[in-house]
Formats: sequence, structure tokens, C-alpha cells
Amino acid sequence: MTKDYHNFINGTFGKQASTALLEVLNPATNETIGHVPNSSRAEVDAAVAAAKEAQTGWERLPPIHRAGYLRKISKKVRDNKERLAELITREQGKVLGLAQVEVDFTADYIDYMAEWARRIEGEVITSDRPNETILLLRKAVGVIAGILPWNFPFFLIARKLAPALVAGNTIVIKPSEETPLNAFAFAELVAECDLPPGVFNLVGGSRETGAALAGHRDVNLVSFTGSVGTGVHIMRAAAENLTRVNLELGGKAPAIVLASADLNLAANAVYQSRILNSGQVCNCAERVYVERPVLQAFTDKVVALMKSTTYGDPLKDRSVSMGPLVSAAQLAKVASAVELARTQGAQLALGGKIADRGGGNHYEPTVLVDCNHDMEIMRTETFGPVLPIQAIDSLDEGIRYANDSEYGLTSSIFSNDLNAVMHACRELKFGETYVNREHFEAMQGFHAGRRKSGIGGADGKHGLYEYMETQVVYLQTK
Ligand code: NAD
Repeated sequence: MTKDYHNFINGTFGKQASTALLEVLNPATNETIGHVPNSSRAEVDAAVAAAKEAQTGWERLPPIHRAGYLRKISKKVRDNKERLAELITREQGKVLGLAQVEVDFTADYIDYMAEWARRIEGEVITSDRPNETILLLRKAVGVIAGILPWNFPFFLIARKLAPALVAGNTIVIKPSEETPLNAFAFAELVAECDLPPGVFNLVGGSRETGAALAGHRDVNLVSFTGSVGTGVHIMRAAAENLTRVNLELGGKAPAIVLASADLNLAANAVYQSRILNSGQVCNCAERVYVERPVLQAFTDKVVALMKSTTYGDPLKDRSVSMGPLVSAAQLAKVASAVELARTQGAQLALGGKIADRGGGNHYEPTVLVDCNHDMEIMRTETFGPVLPIQAIDSLDEGIRYANDSEYGLTSSIFSNDLNAVMHACRELKFGETYVNREHFEAMQGFHAGRRKSGIGGADGKHGLYEYMETQVVYLQTK
């Protein structure tokens, strides 16, 4: 069953200016499941023009009215949960249970951001002049370009759209070429919510479409989630017009397991984090440092858990705990990362091969031991169900390896020693640190990377204010 979609620009699913199409595959089988437009620069121009035209009127609406539209959208998402979750699984490959969580979280996130409508605050400050008051007003930035990756494709629409819209911006979204269908299904729901035309626009396309958006002179903020390499391209393109950027990029999250940890808890958390979404999550443990006295026990527990993983096509067998990788290219990348680790001296404790599941991009749950800091597998994002383990002799050694990375998104520490935990929290140079747990940030927190993991952040009050700018008013009275 395949379905072809049209761009959503200025409130309608128009006929395409270009006929170029992108083919979308089911990663569990590599069968074609749909087509979306591969939008030209002209289509990007049309979408940005519609967003620009709509922006002033949208910003003039009281925020609570804008929030009303967001609540209509979240209700539509909830009402269509099962259909949307199945579509996400079909085109992205995550298990259905996780796709359902993604849909629920998306709806909750939109509602959460809508709640900010009555809480956006400016400031009143004193002046050095007589009879003057200084006001700091919070205003919308203008037109937002939201460029998305494929790993949580549905939620990431909301992470950009909801704060953008409640703050008074309008938006043009470009989903990943790997997973665009769920975004078009989302647009069909938005079309039923009577949103003023041009407030939300969606264009399909690949890197050229993204580049046209990032370098567009009428875009005021590029909000991008994806890889470090693409982040660099986007920042270059945005620099042409000095357009603001908000970049949520890759990670190589370290987990430090101390001898004082609850080993069952640590092994289970790290395991879950490695198979979640087939290991394709920016903030899940990608490298583990274990204190030598518990190295063998921890490794045995993790290997046993990884071994118990059932995997395959998540729509054919709904009981599997892991689906395929998102694409043949991602599968090849993971396979070659493991091969390189082996040539650099890592030993396979489990897995290490492409798995035959009758088609699709399946990889065996894999554990690598005897890893060291010089190996690529400890330094470069892998994004697969592969867990490399390295021995450490002290917490400080673990912290030193953890911080010596070009990434700085998330980190974790497992220990029941409060002094050790607090020391690690002070010393780890990461946007996020999880203590005695792995992954899943809270929508009221702040998700932001250091070093090459990004610029700016998302979620909570601070994430919302990334979509606003400050105007100062000097108010002279008699
Ligand atoms: P990617 O960088 O390959 O692509 C992301 C998007 O950028 C796609 O829509 C693509 O079409 C577009 N794009 C590609 N080249 C472009 C260019 N030159 N100009 C403009 N747009 C361009 O990333 P991906 O493979 O889809 O996603 C996986 C990556 O995303 C991983 O590195 C992961 O860590 C990261 N990620 C980060 C977070 C976070 O919150 N920090 C969350 C999810 C994913």
C-alpha cells in the first residue's frame, strides 16, 4: 500500500510546481510505501512567502488564541494515535510501543507549550532618566525554518512547531527524506484545524531543499535537529543572511558505571538505552566506562540482556523488542564502525553481524569489550545497537575520557555514592547528566548540547524563549 503526498503551503495541499518525487521505503523490508515532493527552490520560496505573509496577523492574536489552535492540533493527534503510530513504525522502523509513546508525547508537548500562552513575561526596569520607564517586551522572531532528522520524526515536528507558534512565529517544516510520511499525515490533521493559512507549511525534500530553506533571506531562525556535519552546512548557509540558528546535533553519550553502583539497575538502563529505537537516539549511552572491580559482572549482565533481545519487522511480529535500522546506508555505517573497532583491537562479546530477517536493515545486538580511548567506536557517533565497553581505574579517569570528546550532549553516571555523583555532576561538561538512569529528557527541562553537539536548546521556558527576541521600549512620560 503506497500513498503520494503534496506539499502543504498557505493552507492547501497544492499541485506541485515541480514533479520531482522522493521514494519512501519501509526499512524492515525495503519496500516502497509512498512518495513525497522533492521540493525545488521555487516551492521553498512559496512556503516562506506564505509564512511571512501570515506572521504579523498571527503574532497580533492574543497568545491564548494561538494556544487554542495548538490544543485543536494536539486533540487531532490523540484521536489518530494508532494510525499515526503505525505509520511511524512503517517508515522509521521503531517498535509500535515506542511509536505510540512518541505520538502521546507529541500531543502532550503541544499542550505543554500551549500552557505558556499566559506565562510569557517581559520586564519593567528602572531608568537613569527622570520620568522614564524601561520595558523589555518579548516578541516573536518571525519566520522559522524547522529542518528535521529521521529518528523521532513525529515528535520533532512538535518540538519546533509548538514553541514557535505559541510565541507568535510562523513556520516552514522540512522533514527528513527518510521519514517524511508522518509529517504529511500531521499536515492533514493541521488542515482540519482552521489554522490561518501560512502559519504552518510543510515541504518535502532532501538536502537541497533544506539548504534552500537555511539560506533563505526571509527566514529569521533556522531550527535544525540532525548531524554535526549538516549543522555546519546549515550554519554556513544561514551566515549569508546572518540568520539565527538553533542547532540540536549529534552525541556520543558516555555512561560511567562505578563499583558503588546498583549493577542490575545500571546494566538494565544501559541495555534499554542501546536497543531503544535500534540505538538511533542522540542522548542514549554510546560508550560505557566501567570501574575494573565490577567490569566482568557488568559485562556479563549486559551481554545476557542484549542476547535476550528479539528483533525483526515490528509490524509482522509485534512482540519484537527492536526493529531495523532506518536505512541501508545506516546499516552499512554501523557494520563498518564495528569492523573498524575490531581491526583497532576491540573484542566481540556478542553479535557483530548484519542479521538476516528476510530483507530490511537488521543488525545484531552487539557488545564490544577491551575498547580504549583511541578507538573510533569510543569517539564517533555510531547510532546502532552496539555497546562498546572500556575499563577505568577511577571516576576521574572516566570523567577525563567522557569530557575528551567533540560531542557534549548527554552523559550519565551510575553510583550510590552521593559524593561521587556530585563530583561527576560538577566535572562532566555536558548539556545533560542522568544519574542512575538513562535517556528521555523532560519537556519542562532544557535539552542543549555543548561543543559540536549544538547551539541553543529546546524544551521548557528556556527552549520557548529561543523562539522569541527582546524589544526594549524607553517610555518617557511627563
Ligand atoms: P542529517 O543531518 O543527515 O539530516 C537531517 C536533516 O537535514 C534532513 O532533513 C536532511 O534532508 C537535511 N539536510 C541534509 N543536508 C542539508 C544541508 N546541506 N542543508 C540543509 N539541510 C540539510 O541527520 P539525520 O541522519 O537525519 O539524523 C540523525 C542525526 O540527528 C544524528 O547525528 C543524531 O544524533 C541527531 N539528532 C540530534 C538530536 C538532538 O536533540 N541533539 C535529536 C535527534 C537526532
